[in-house]
Amino acid sequence: MSKNAIIIGGGHNGLACAAYLARSGHKVTVLEASEYLGGLGATREFAPGFRASVAHTLPQLDRKLVADLDLEKHGFALAVDDLPTIALGLNGEHITITASGLQGACDEDTAAYPEYQRLLRRFAGAIKPFNSKRPPRIESGSKGDLLTLGQFGWNLRTLGKSDMREMMRMIALPARDLVDEFFASPLLKGALSWDANLGSRLAPRSPNNAMLALLLRMSGDLSVGLPLPRGGVGGLTEALAAAARAMGVELRTSARVEQVLIKEGRATGVRLADGELIAADVVVSNADPKTSFIDLLGARHLDVQFTHRINRLRTGGMVAKLHLALDALPEFTGLANPIGRLLLTRDMDAIENAFDAAKYGGFAPELPMEVIIPSLADDSLAPAGKHVLSAQVQYVPYDLKGGWDARRDEFLEAALNSLAAYAPNIRDCISSVELLTPADLEQQFNARGGHWHHAEYAIDNWWVQRPTYGASQYQSPVPGFYLCGAGSHPGGGIMGLAGANAARAVMEDN
Ligand SMILES: Cc1cc2nc3c(=O)[nH]c(=O)nc-3n(C[C@H](O)[C@H](O)[C@H](O)COP(=O)(O)OP(=O)(O)OC[C@H]3O[C@@H](n4cnc5c(N)ncnc54)[C@H](O)[C@@H]3O)c2cc1C
Repeated sequence: MSKNAIIIGGGHNGLACAAYLARSGHKVTVLEASEYLGGLGATREFAPGFRASVAHTLPQLDRKLVADLDLEKHGFALAVDDLPTIALGLNGEHITITASGLQGACDEDTAAYPEYQRLLRRFAGAIKPFNSKRPPRIESGSKGDLLTLGQFGWNLRTLGKSDMREMMRMIALPARDLVDEFFASPLLKGALSWDANLGSRLAPRSPNNAMLALLLRMSGDLSVGLPLPRGGVGGLTEALAAAARAMGVELRTSARVEQVLIKEGRATGVRLADGELIAADVVVSNADPKTSFIDLLGARHLDVQFTHRINRLRTGGMVAKLHLALDALPEFTGLANPIGRLLLTRDMDAIENAFDAAKYGGFAPELPMEVIIPSLADDSLAPAGKHVLSAQVQYVPYDLKGGWDARRDEFLEAALNSLAAYAPNIRDCISSVELLTPADLEQQFNARGGHWHHAEYAIDNWWVQRPTYGASQYQSPVPGFYLCGAGSHPGGGIMGLAGANAARAVMEDN
């Protein structure tokens, strides 16, 4: 039956959810707090003529979303479909990683890499189908839930005895132990461990969660390699918005939701910050779980234990974003052309040391980072002859000791020094800087703690427990109120699957 649905938040998941619901005949309104749509996937101008998005590559995006919503017709395109990853050392030594293997590594590592990739791809392949399904309720006894659980067991079983045992053994390994088993080069190991820890409160020695994060990151299939979208990730979110609009979705910006309205135990609409009341049959929140349940719904409508679990979600982000407007292309020592995802992560100890400092509220003098100069492949992001540098900098505490206001410049110096260790002339090229700390990301993008996944992506908040049991099927404990953002299954990263799955959940339940 056709329903009136409100989506709180126009991030890529909210837009995907809206488009799928509208496609199935629902009347949908998206209410976005910011002046622009796209959330952490929006492309914004940060200096006159220079544009960048917080998320910068699309390793997790699935072809199905692009095809289902006809996103190419609505303007989505890739600038590069296999951006090489380049592990760069301080003296210019480097190893290039592409879909077809390693270049520049020692013979031993080059020979070991195909088996490492084969195993990870097999494990990721076993889990991937469940990313686009509603997680099952463990004890519901419903046919659908039993089938999903059965399929999960079957997918593990069909890995075969040897790979299944290996998966069970490797799933809880710290990234350090995992890559130590396969490789010798400290430079390569630093780079490979980066993908297992990026965006989480994890470093190479952290146990239990690295493999899950690594497999999530490998779940996309848009191209064989690492896709770089044209127009930044905003190229995707603008196409999602256009697709939603074409399906009749009303998209409202500068429309902050302040309260979800409840009548007789059911969500009946929302109140905006300016007092406007909007009624709806279903309210779906793309905001993070803490914001959704504690701020917008209110603990008084929730069970005490459920509220405790939501309050305990780990939401302090650890990644800052640095955008540089460049008058000229910087020279990276040892690289003729800096086109690629440059990992300035020289070894696992350097990464671990940066994490240690951030764990205790500080930052290390040497900050590991992932750098892309997307304007090398996409002239829509910078004026002719100029460039944009986009860097994900780890590890950066949300709650910096001494406060961000007092120590912002000091941190920026540390980040630029860390970059200059690889690109000595970087400071001469910079005309403008945008630094987004986790606290800035929270404030400007309305994502609690500025967390990459809206809430830590870890075994205790995974699949049937994401964000926590009682809300892991997108339906919340309050009838008519659903979640559809990165805090839900399958987690953060630009995938659109939380949005698509939530839309299906709304259709199934209503
Ligand atoms: C520094 C950083 C770098 C990243 N880089 C990458 C990357 O390269 N590749 C990748 O795949 N992923 C990356 N990610 C992760 C990815 O950006 C997020 O997981 C993803 O954008 C989450 O999408 P979403 O739609 O669920 O939420 P969001 O993008 O956070 O959107 C939620 C929306 O809800 C709105 N909202 C919140 N509260 C309200 C309210 N009360 N009323 C109305 N609207 C509200 C917000 O304004 C926002 O627009 C990165 C994350 C960070 C923090």
